[in-house]
Amino acid sequence: MVVANQKGGVGKTTTTVNLAASLALHGARVLVIDLDPQGNASTALGIDHHAEVPSIYDVLVESAPLSDVVQPVPDVEGLFCAPATIDLAGAEIELVSLVARESRLQRAIQAYEQPLDYVLIDCPPSLGLLTVNAMVAGAEVLIPIQCEYYALEGLGQLLRNVDLVRGHLNPDLHVSTILLTMYDGRTRLASQVADEVRNHFGDEVLRTSIPRSVRISEAPSYGQTVLTYDPGSSGALSYLEAAREMALRGVGVRYDAQQAHARTQNGQQNMAEGIQ
Ligand code: ADP
Ligand code: MG
Repeated sequence: MVVANQKGGVGKTTTTVNLAASLALHGARVLVIDLDPQGNASTALGIDHHAEVPSIYDVLVESAPLSDVVQPVPDVEGLFCAPATIDLAGAEIELVSLVARESRLQRAIQAYEQPLDYVLIDCPPSLGLLTVNAMVAGAEVLIPIQCEYYALEGLGQLLRNVDLVRGHLNPDLHVSTILLTMYDGRTRLASQVADEVRNHFGDEVLRTSIPRSVRISEAPSYGQTVLTYDPGSSGALSYLEAAREMALRGVGVRYDAQQAHARTQNGQQNMAEGIQ
């Protein structure tokens, strides 16, 4: 599941780590792939990501096996993280000249042999090659939308990129899930944005929305998700409920790497011009 929105600060990372922890607490085996050079997801999961740590950069650029960089998340059984270090900031440019530059993450996931129920990929706030790698590797896209003015601006571009990747490299890719984040029920603006998003996307929007919560924003500074930091808080309960809703909808179908790989063999060539 690709967690994407090229806008920064909309709750991508928060959603990735808290949904992942919720799914793991429900008993699933979950891998979080941190694809943002800032490494916020790694921090929030309590995973060391200083410059020397083997990271997703090594996987994408140096072709290291994913298993060399995956670390278990402390405190949450069944939850794992492939961290990002600052090296990843250069990857966007370094990838340009590499073979199969759009499908390097997909290949790495395909070669990963540990059993997993979900892979959540936390994207950077851009639509460059890192996000394209995520979309080629993924089965579906989750878009967090912050309930603020301008929330829908730029979404068209994101949806066009999903279409482009689907057209060339990953025919099954689709936006399966929209999650409303930082929802403040007391403001008219929040409910107006929520209505607009629900009118536009319909069933893809999870019924559960994530409230604005201080506990959610505090948790990362303790290297924790809100699920372990304050399990009874409204933020923790809303992410648990969102995860349950996703699981019950059958979202997050088991990733069939072999099949995905076979599908992308053809699209590889046409892709470059489209995305550039
Ligand atoms: P992105 O990854 O899209 O840039 P983040 O997940 O990092 O966004 O969230 C941006 C900021 O908003 C962070 O400081 C985060 O702690 C805060 N935040 C995210 N979700 C909530 C929420 N539901 N309530 C309060 N603060 C939140
Ligand atoms: Mg982020």
